Amino acid sequence: MPELPEVETTRRGIAPHLVGQRVSRVVVRDRRLRWPIPEDLDVRLSGQRIVSVERRAKYLLINAEVGTLISHLGMSGNLRLVELGLPAAKHEHVDIELESGLMLRYTDPRRFGAMLWSLDPLSHELLLRLGPEPLTDLFDGERLFQLSRGRSMAVKPFIMDNAVVVGVGNIYATEALFAAGIDPRREAGGISRARYLKLAIEIKRVLAAAIEQGGTTLRDFIGGDGQPGYFQQELFVYGRGGQPCKLCGTALREVKLGQRASVFCPRCQR
Ligand SMILES: [Zn+2]
Repeated sequence: MPELPEVETTRRGIAPHLVGQRVSRVVVRDRRLRWPIPEDLDVRLSGQRIVSVERRAKYLLINAEVGTLISHLGMSGNLRLVELGLPAAKHEHVDIELESGLMLRYTDPRRFGAMLWSLDPLSHELLLRLGPEPLTDLFDGERLFQLSRGRSMAVKPFIMDNAVVVGVGNIYATEALFAAGIDPRREAGGISRARYLKLAIEIKRVLAAAIEQGGTTLRDFIGGDGQPGYFQQELFVYGRGGQPCKLCGTALREVKLGQRASVFCPRCQR
């Protein structure tokens, strides 16, 4: 599933080919994504110039002169630029044709993604209640400490809650908790300020490293398969249940927390 770093990598990959370009036509072959693609998307977007491409959490905001295309990659979506007229294969549901001779093609085999239109995207119901971006100063350990007081839930689902901070998916939560030495099962409300300061730093570090890794794949957004590199960065615990801890050799344990597999080292994480 595309996580925040892949979505940010997608943004950086497609933006240079979109910004300043005028949309000549939008072709929708299948409207049935997570929500139906609006019937009037072509009418709304055609003829307009794209002024910027932003990201909020895992939503891409393709801003036109008037209005914004809000896109989410869902479980299996991707966006890439191809030559105008390239025949569409299965699952290639949308083409946004540009005057440059390229088109932005949206592919989504599982169709959990989204393509919506909004005149005021930050007030859209999907974006309105999102917490701060993890790589900004609005997110820090003090926020984690304050929001966690009185909370009995485990710390791992707490940091994966989009109202607390956006974009901390299972991989990043798992790796950041390991790096901070915090047992993912620990009650969120019982963790000290000092440990949350450390945890916030590690969350920022693992996300920034994954985005940096994605940077090596930016050329793939034109002509290629549009699949950003799923961070080849070293994983210490994620997906390694039962294997020895890379730091201490203890067998890593796997438990379910908030319906998600959670791997941790019983010796390094307390
Ligand atoms: Zn260990």
